[in-house]
Amino acid sequence: MLYLVEHFFSIQGEGRYSGSPSIFLRFGGCNLRCPGFGETDTKEGPIAGCDTVRAVHTPIFKKNWLVVRSADTIDSIVASYTKNLDYMPDIVLTGGEPMIYSQNLVFNESVRRMIGAGYRVTMETNATIAPDFKRYPFYADVVFAMAVKLSNSGEPHEKRVNAEAIRAIATEGKNPFFKFTLDRTIIENGAREQIEAIIAGFKNEVFCMPLGESIEKLRIHAPAVVDFCLKYGYRYTDRLHVRIYNREEKR
Ligand code: SF4
Repeated sequence: MLYLVEHFFSIQGEGRYSGSPSIFLRFGGCNLRCPGFGETDTKEGPIAGCDTVRAVHTPIFKKNWLVVRSADTIDSIVASYTKNLDYMPDIVLTGGEPMIYSQNLVFNESVRRMIGAGYRVTMETNATIAPDFKRYPFYADVVFAMAVKLSNSGEPHEKRVNAEAIRAIATEGKNPFFKFTLDRTIIENGAREQIEAIIAGFKNEVFCMPLGESIEKLRIHAPAVVDFCLKYGYRYTDRLHVRIYNREEKR
């Protein structure tokens, strides 16, 4: 079953295509929990985990997700945003972890149609699940933003780093890039070593992004991440949508 949490039209706030007008499709479910990324306040109380708990925490949020039974539904959603545009925005597939649907027929047909129509499609993934590039060759035209998790996620190494999946995506995907989420603590405790171990042997671009789902948290972590990038030659990426809209959802 394919679950869609939300869809919206905004600018991409992170990574190589930061600033690009983009249609976001946020899919429900994730194979990780990332309890190290702090807490999110909900009506039911604080929930530990990433800043998109509404796409991950099934006991509370799954009842609100849309069940997508046909690729036509995704087509209609995309068309609702593009019908008055005279250009093609990017399409960003995000989550949760969208690659948990990499064997789902509706998901794959949707991605195939987007690529066939000429969209630039970015897959925002934790890079623990590689697509079957042979069986689904259109994945070779998807840009993978590989947000491999570091120890500050709170996940054990064997869960958050899948070397074989990273290798497959980094070498078979279309111009994929790495994107790491850093905070002050991990910068002082092994971020450099962890990143270098993950990217060893690859030539893909490396972006570092501050932890923070709010302007207040970005103010705490961003300067340290900038210094880290200056020291080691990684590319800094901000979270533009957080700077502009702070905690608003669908932005
Ligand atoms: S991998 Fe990403 S979406 Fe999944 S729990 Fe971690 S931060 Fe959230």
